[in-house]
Amino acid sequence: MSTSRPRVVILGGGFAGLRSLFRLRSLSHRVDLTLVDPRDSSLARPSLPEVALAGKSVEHSRFPLRGPVTRSGATFIHQAAERVEASERRVIFQNGDVLHYDFLLLAVGAHKDYDAIDGFREFGFSPCDDEQAPRLAHALEAFTGGPIVIGSAKSSWGTRVEAPPLAAPCEGPVAEIMFMLDHELRQRGLRDNSSIRVFSPGHIFFEDVGPRVHADVEPLVKRAEIQVTTGKVLQSLSEGKVQFEDGSSWDSALSIVLPPYVGSPLVARSTGLGDERGFVPTDTTMRHLDFERVYAAGDGTSLSMPKLGHIAVQQADVAAAALAQDLTGQGEVPIYRPEVFCIANRGGTEATLIYSNTLFGGTTDLTLEGPAAHLMKWGFDEYYFHTAGHLPPDMASDALEFMLKSTHASSRESDE
Ligand SMILES: Cc1cc2nc3c(=O)[nH]c(=O)nc-3n(C[C@H](O)[C@H](O)[C@H](O)COP(=O)(O)OP(=O)(O)OC[C@H]3O[C@@H](n4cnc5c(N)ncnc54)[C@H](O)[C@@H]3O)c2cc1C
Repeated sequence: MSTSRPRVVILGGGFAGLRSLFRLRSLSHRVDLTLVDPRDSSLARPSLPEVALAGKSVEHSRFPLRGPVTRSGATFIHQAAERVEASERRVIFQNGDVLHYDFLLLAVGAHKDYDAIDGFREFGFSPCDDEQAPRLAHALEAFTGGPIVIGSAKSSWGTRVEAPPLAAPCEGPVAEIMFMLDHELRQRGLRDNSSIRVFSPGHIFFEDVGPRVHADVEPLVKRAEIQVTTGKVLQSLSEGKVQFEDGSSWDSALSIVLPPYVGSPLVARSTGLGDERGFVPTDTTMRHLDFERVYAAGDGTSLSMPKLGHIAVQQADVAAAALAQDLTGQGEVPIYRPEVFCIANRGGTEATLIYSNTLFGGTTDLTLEGPAAHLMKWGFDEYYFHTAGHLPPDMASDALEFMLKSTHASSRESDE
């Protein structure tokens, strides 16, 4: 470590990057903190289905990055990092600038590989970023009926780290879109002349949750008359058609796809940093397997499965604590205990909250339905937006966890 203040560089200002920064800011008087992002705004992807389907302004899904970064005592560099030379401990920028670090925290997310889908640019739509979601909103405004097809392309993962090998990064957005679409089409009187078909590359739709969540969600799918087919691997999109690897094709007037995820191009350009698919391999303290001064958190890590904001934040908490311990020799590193926690809107004031850790060997597997879940999602999104990247305090999430578990315990008792 150099004799001046050690420099910690965070690459990426999404869920994981900002959370790490906020966790580290108490060290800003003794550590030189820098956050780098090519975007000048942070994008809250959980708001994007509402941009695509519920008239939310895209501006309401992002907020300027410079403010929360500088208020945390950090320097904001508004540039894309081109590559990392981890053995030299430096970041190289597109313009050739070089930034040396003592510790690096990679929070660059995953790359949504639209171009891996033949025909996507011409015939496909997606809710996954702030260019695609408004495009989908426009297509829906012009939609007058017909078959709609929604699903995730298959992703594949590296082998260096043991993580659940899901066929899709996360099917929550697919579920959210299909329910919101059903609601929207009914509102517009278009549901009778429109079908909604969903495909999943996995053996079961929603591989990342357990049987109780499936049992709660299945009647909702049935009631919305949505047809779900599993084991369908997307091959290509063309005019009026979605083609699958098994040779079948479905008619489609509107094809909405979650593209395959691969690691960030930055990681691919950085020797030794990524696994075979460009994700960053770490141990469960989020330290890189090969570079001890490199940490990573969020969708860009090999460990994050499913690719979920909640898991990105859990990883950021672990990574920031481990990094702070390296810097100060103090503090405890929380144990990484991933869990699926998300709220999917279902149109109007309906939503489903899902809380499950069965994918990781736990026994929690529950849902909360209805306007209360919708209100929680609204509250979470508004808090995140208006506080520029902060999450509701731990006390609120502890209270929520307690409430969910006790509500389900008492409903199970009354079932018996
Ligand atoms: C439509 C949709 C809906 C979703 N809904 C939910 C939900 O309801 N709940 C939930 O928990 N999760 C949800 N998710 C998942 C969630 O959005 C992601 O898991 C989360 O955004 C991951 O955070 P991250 O910080 O790892 O990556 P990102 O949010 O992708 O942030 C990565 C950041 O790194 C920056 N970056 C990229 N390249 C570089 C570079 N070369 N140099 C410097 N910076 C760089 C990017 O500009 C970006 O700001 C949803 C995802 C989608 C697509």
